[in-house]
Amino acid sequence: TRSIPGMLSSPAPSVSFEFFPPKDDASEALLWDAIRRLESARPDFVSVTYGAGGSNQDRTVRVTERIARETTLTPLAHLTCVGASVGALRQVVGLYAASGVRNILALRGDPPGDPGGEWVSHPEGLNHATDLVALVKSLGDFTIGVAAFPDVHPASPSFEHDVEIMVRKADAGASFAITQMVFDAESYLRLRDAVAARRPELPITPGLMPVTNFKQVARMSQLMGTPLPTAVVSRLEAVADDPAATREVGVQIATELATRMLGEGAPGLHFITMNRSTATLEVHRNLGLD
Ligand code: FAD
Repeated sequence: TRSIPGMLSSPAPSVSFEFFPPKDDASEALLWDAIRRLESARPDFVSVTYGAGGSNQDRTVRVTERIARETTLTPLAHLTCVGASVGALRQVVGLYAASGVRNILALRGDPPGDPGGEWVSHPEGLNHATDLVALVKSLGDFTIGVAAFPDVHPASPSFEHDVEIMVRKADAGASFAITQMVFDAESYLRLRDAVAARRPELPITPGLMPVTNFKQVARMSQLMGTPLPTAVVSRLEAVADDPAATREVGVQIATELATRMLGEGAPGLHFITMNRSTATLEVHRNLGLD
């Protein structure tokens, strides 16, 4: 199989799908339904986020291992430093290695509770994503990805600081980056170009969320510090009471954004699926990626 950076440097855009760890068995069954439907789109890789709470992390590991074992998909495991000693992080990486997961998205994560809140150190843990990149790299032959923030990380003093952090992530051993969900193509392109000027070998793939629920995305955008452009808000607000129309507009917006970013040379698209398949598959089809 090709490596993720290899996929990202190929002329065809890479396509990947992100899932979150289900909170119970019923949601896990729905997730598997979505995974099976999305498998038919033959994505380059799929990822499972690492939850802030303890039990969800077990599900992250379990779902990721099962993807590796039982599907044709290439998994990318998210991993965060939150509340973990270096020993515990080594253990999770070891579990992944044992089940054939070779790709890890190394993140700092956010302390439980308030995503914009002060970072809380673990006495025997790590404090920056760059430290986790270095740790994972020291533990085996992993392909390591990192997070990028086109709208500037909420705790970062400036855009320039964020660019510097991306340079450090690349130098620590990251070979690709995925962004926070993008609603403004210009912000993505600005970060992509600024990082490319210093580390052209680090492909940065935009995160794309086809909106199906306006309240949900408004809440997420606030939590993540990703502002929604006024044009996006007014298009979604106009149909907020109509779920079918919201999905249609959400798919249109994602298709337009993706078309613009791919037209400007984005290496691929990382779809934030919210564990559903229909809207993502519609955007995928609209873009002619089938
Ligand atoms: P870092 O790179 O450590 O950055 C955190 C802050 O510290 C930034 O403000 C940065 O500017 C600053 N900083 C970094 N290094 C230094 C340094 N050496 N000196 C001074 N300041 C520094 N969260 C989850 O809990 N689970 C997930 O699965 C998950 N998946 C994600 C996937 C993607 C694609 C993205 C974009 C985010 C994801 N997140 C996830 C959220 C992420 O963990 C948070 O946004 C977190 O606040 C930042 O993570 P990071 O890896 O960029 O951290």
